[in-house]
Amino acid sequence: MSDDRRNTRPETLVRRMPLAEGVSRPVVTPIQPSVVYASPSIDTLHAQYEGRETGYTYAREGHPNATLLARKIDAMEGAEGGIVTGSGMAAVTAALMGLMGAGDHVVGGNQLYGRSLRLMHQDLGRFGIATSVADPTDAEAVRAAIRPETKMILVEVVSNPTLRVADMEGIAKVAREAGVLLAVDNTFTTPRAWRPFEHGADIVIHSVTKLLAGHSDVTLGYVVAKDAALQKAIYDFAVTTGLTPSPYECWLAERGLYTFPLRYDRAEANAAALADFLAGHPKVKRVLYPGRDDHPDRARAKALLGERTGNMVSFEIEGDERAANRMVEAAPQLPFAPTLGDVGTTLSHPASSSHRALTSEARAELGMSDGFFRVSVGIEEIDLLISDFEQGLAAV
Ligand SMILES: *Cc1c(COP(=O)(O)O)cnc(C)c1O
Repeated sequence: MSDDRRNTRPETLVRRMPLAEGVSRPVVTPIQPSVVYASPSIDTLHAQYEGRETGYTYAREGHPNATLLARKIDAMEGAEGGIVTGSGMAAVTAALMGLMGAGDHVVGGNQLYGRSLRLMHQDLGRFGIATSVADPTDAEAVRAAIRPETKMILVEVVSNPTLRVADMEGIAKVAREAGVLLAVDNTFTTPRAWRPFEHGADIVIHSVTKLLAGHSDVTLGYVVAKDAALQKAIYDFAVTTGLTPSPYECWLAERGLYTFPLRYDRAEANAAALADFLAGHPKVKRVLYPGRDDHPDRARAKALLGERTGNMVSFEIEGDERAANRMVEAAPQLPFAPTLGDVGTTLSHPASSSHRALTSEARAELGMSDGFFRVSVGIEEIDLLISDFEQGLAAV
């Protein structure tokens, strides 16, 4: 290369130019998209890998926006050293596959999130990890599923979509007595209602996608183990298999967290009011809401969650799938979308989405008819929300 060309090297390619700084600082967390981090020397890099210095190296192994988000969720859960993953399922996968191997056995709740169940039924077996499912509302059923090689129990506190409440105290006792790890997917309950580490859990998992981030614009997860060696195993598995989150999504989720308590409280108050409205509506056969006295697990919900009754409401209309379809069509303001925890209310119909693979008999056994809906209640004005449901139900 001639000296001439070197002299005209475009400034845009010079990557060592620092951002202009001053005495003031930004109040909003900056996004740090760098994939690689340059260390000042080989000695320093050794020190980083050996933990004598802190500093990032490569974004798959960690980056500032993921660390910040993880520390905030740690604080909410009363945990230390958790990691953020690229999705809730990545967090479930890291907990199960990072800690178990061929010959181990895991007991799952029989109404876990659909893809968690699928991981148990379709995938873990191919890696030699045996699985069983048990009804988490019955701790003795969970105990009966435990084998000598059982290593972990994975449950959710409130089931989807029938909103049954697990016997968490009973299951924690079973896990303790059997010397088995207890992993809790805390997505539905969130640390605002329930903090698993305070009730005997060893591992906490979140789909951050849902209530924590709260705006249906990121897909992220979180996982933490109480024991540092277990957490290291989960972290290494996640880094090796690339379950890494993107800086931009971590930034959006961190932004969502600022309003999480406000959103949760408002959505919960709306859910309670909507549940009462639905229960009094002539076209509604049945309402399931853990805050109502007619909920089958009301006493347990109260004992476990106190005044926290959540933002999820399920109900069954008088009528078949065609009637259900008319309701959806008549209320286009209520997005018919299979997710939960958004700022806006969403409606889902398990028979045609999350539980479509089951026969209608199997669904009936779980308490889900073709007229069964699950509502993730958002933070709208409650009067508007009720009028949207009135409009939909009028078409049933
Ligand atoms: C959505 C969800 C997951 C999966 O999370 P993704 O972010 O969609 O991968 C896991 N568990 C529960 C309870 C969920 O609701």
